[in-house]
Amino acid sequence: MKQTNRRGFLKSAALVAGVGVVAGCATGSRRKASKSPWVDLQVNGRIGISFTDSELTPEGVLKVVEALRDGGTDAFLATIVTCPDDMALHALRTIRAAMKKYPECQKRILGFHMEGPFVSNVTGYSGAHSKQWTRDCDIKVYERWQDASDGMIRIVTICGDRKGAEDFTRKVTASGTVISLGHTTTWRTEDLNRLAKAGAKTCTHLGNALPNELPRHHNMIWTALANPNYMPMFISDGFHLPKEMLHCYVRIAPLDRLVTVSDCSYPGGLPPGTYKKNGRISVLEADGFLRSPKTNSLAGSSCLMKQCVETLMSPEVGLSYSDCLKIARENPLRLIGMEGWTA
Ligand SMILES: [Zn+2]
Repeated sequence: MKQTNRRGFLKSAALVAGVGVVAGCATGSRRKASKSPWVDLQVNGRIGISFTDSELTPEGVLKVVEALRDGGTDAFLATIVTCPDDMALHALRTIRAAMKKYPECQKRILGFHMEGPFVSNVTGYSGAHSKQWTRDCDIKVYERWQDASDGMIRIVTICGDRKGAEDFTRKVTASGTVISLGHTTTWRTEDLNRLAKAGAKTCTHLGNALPNELPRHHNMIWTALANPNYMPMFISDGFHLPKEMLHCYVRIAPLDRLVTVSDCSYPGGLPPGTYKKNGRISVLEADGFLRSPKTNSLAGSSCLMKQCVETLMSPEVGLSYSDCLKIARENPLRLIGMEGWTA
């Protein structure tokens, strides 16, 4: 969303990584990356290649995988955002083809996170998603995704107020996929409890995809952090949430209930500039800030998990490396039922 924390990110990232910097985010070395343990449950693309693209190829998928590996991400969920059905199916089939063709893709792609289209179309909650493709929950669409992905859908992000959300949550959970509440108008504890009873377990980028102005006492940030049924995901890239807020997150909720993600998007790793894909414009600024000028919101991140961990380990947030191992590896794997996974 519009409110941001534009910290002096460039210098600290470069110092830690000791390597080249593209648009504010360190790129990492292959030698260091091979030791990085970070698991990212929300990766939209990188170096100009988006997973949500009707022109996605297996070769493009491999390039993203290599860029993430070289940037210190051990494994991830390929994330497909709100789009027409045929585009989502193309993405799933293409990424599965890449996994079958390239061992590096097979090793590092743990499955899929479908962020939409069953999300809110209300301004402020829809964020950078295309409202025209948002829709009510439909189990038939999910079943088509599962067929196309060989059953590898791990997370589906929905708006809890969409028609059919509770029944959809029950059915999708029963099939072994995690339901996450995100881009959602849902916030009341009784609604979060009702959806948790149906199987919902997490929230997508808690604190973002919300209107810039919220009721100060009654909003999802408080109710989700306070609810022991949920393991909220959040973006600690240094742009999406202020460090003061991250400081509170990691002290309100037990660390075994928190998951950080990068939400990295296709302009990440490219030089600063204006980029266009699927008719949508993203502006990547020199400090790594990535925004959609049309919706006046953040448009994903240009950073990777490595930078998310650096933010959490900054003095203002105050986590240790072992704390980050929980939030950026162990908890993400446990959330998607892959506890103990190694490459
Ligand atoms: Zn989002």
